[in-house]
Amino acid sequence: MSATILKIDHLGIAVKSIETVLPHYEKTLGLKCEHIEEVPSQKVKTAFFACGEVHIELLEPTDPESPIAKFIESKGEGIHHIAFATTDIVGQLAQAKENGERLIHEVPFDGAGGKLVAFLHPKSSFGVLTEFCQPKPCGCNCGH
Ligand code: ZN
Repeated sequence: MSATILKIDHLGIAVKSIETVLPHYEKTLGLKCEHIEEVPSQKVKTAFFACGEVHIELLEPTDPESPIAKFIESKGEGIHHIAFATTDIVGQLAQAKENGERLIHEVPFDGAGGKLVAFLHPKSSFGVLTEFCQPKPCGCNCGH
């Protein structure tokens, strides 16, 4: 089975404080915050807003050692990554590797929203930190 990109799933945006930027997304843009979740493995707190098919993912560091804290330190707040939904995250990573790209994660891990996620290195994806994500099978018969 070959891996297929389905759509842009979300845009990740690094912020110092979700609380501070909430009025911009909720009042100025009129988007609805669907959920706020901490991802301990990445030392971040995330907030998701639906914007049509695509989501906006705000990322706030929960620790000075968080990759997001380091990003904000060197580049300031702003767009951090683009996430592509794929039918097969393991196949997608293998394909990137075959094409000579560097991976940050060889093996997908648990990200926000119950998804498996993994990142390509921005140096080999031309300055855009690229995330692949795939919903995890939830173990019931709902078809997800
Ligand atoms: Zn993301």
